[in-house]
Amino acid sequence: MSFTALVDCNNFFASCEQVFNPKFIGKPLVVLSSNDGLVIARSKDAKALGIKMGDPRWELPRGVISLSSNFSLYGDMSARVMVTLEEFGYPLFVYSVDEAFMELPELSLQDCHALSDEIKQKVKQWTGIPVSVGIAPTKTLAKLGHILIDKTTIDSFLDNLPVEEIWGIGKNSREHLNAKGIRTALELKNAPDQVIKKLLTVSGLKTAYELRGTPCIEEGNDHLSKSMISSRSFGKEVFTYKELREAISYHAANIGERLRAQNAACSYLGVFTSTDSVSLPLPFPTSYTPLLIHYAGIALTKAFKPIAHKKAGVFIGEITSSKRTQLDLFQKPTPHHNKRMELYDAVNDKYGNGALFFAAEGTTKSWKPKANKRSPCYTTSWDEIPQV
Ligand SMILES: [Mg+2]
Repeated sequence: MSFTALVDCNNFFASCEQVFNPKFIGKPLVVLSSNDGLVIARSKDAKALGIKMGDPRWELPRGVISLSSNFSLYGDMSARVMVTLEEFGYPLFVYSVDEAFMELPELSLQDCHALSDEIKQKVKQWTGIPVSVGIAPTKTLAKLGHILIDKTTIDSFLDNLPVEEIWGIGKNSREHLNAKGIRTALELKNAPDQVIKKLLTVSGLKTAYELRGTPCIEEGNDHLSKSMISSRSFGKEVFTYKELREAISYHAANIGERLRAQNAACSYLGVFTSTDSVSLPLPFPTSYTPLLIHYAGIALTKAFKPIAHKKAGVFIGEITSSKRTQLDLFQKPTPHHNKRMELYDAVNDKYGNGALFFAAEGTTKSWKPKANKRSPCYTTSWDEIPQV
């Protein structure tokens, strides 16, 4: 048997802000969506005040610190956390900006606790970010954020867990499951395969097997293959194809960077404006920014209408590991693509995001929203390094 660890950053965006502003530690702090509208992240103390995700800024109680989102800071902090986790020497799969799975050998309970403590301590010391660690025989169990390795502990934990809190189940399935008498995670685990398959299809059955301790969810499959989206509301209404094209190129470049940071590639890409959405399959899985910009442009010509647009964005799907992609002999060989992107990412890493950018993104970025309450880009921009 082998184990999986899930390392999850606690209140990630809020924690990033607290690392650089220790005066915010222990205070209710929220991070707002672009245009400073809605709550997209909360510190522990903000959660304790009952503030919910999506709460509008103007309804926040007095004394709550609200900041504009600073994705270049969070992206950079995420990379630091992942590099720290790689130090442990186990295969690592970055699942999202603040979560990664680590493949482990089978360990004793004592060793699980020791490793969990070591991960928390090292990440905190190297990056300032607090993390939670789950260790279990399967990813679905590890997602629960506890050390669950023997049957008795697993079953008593699942007995107290509402079924919709299992990874991949969700609130939409709750009613159907409850109607069949399945309310807890333990009841799902013990339900007959036929019943589960009928209610939740094969993917639900895989989840049940995972609860029983049999790994069924592989990297790049099932709910591991996520989609990605990059979009922002414009700072003003945008009418022209040229401006939309620049905004779309900017978002395509952003997605390329995020894909490469995860060693991933995508197989389809779409573009949306205020009124339309068009998506296209890509000829082969890629994370090469010039290609993403090229196909985003093709999609935009189909989606474009010369009216006032308030937002636009790019989304992608069918994300696969690019390590796997490179093994496919029928795909176009793209070694020079990789080299170029490595250089591009290295320069932007060193001199701040946007040090190098594609001409298609335009130089003025007149469509960009204002983010007046944004914290400085402490780690990604030389001009904004904190002064002591
Ligand atoms: Mg988290």
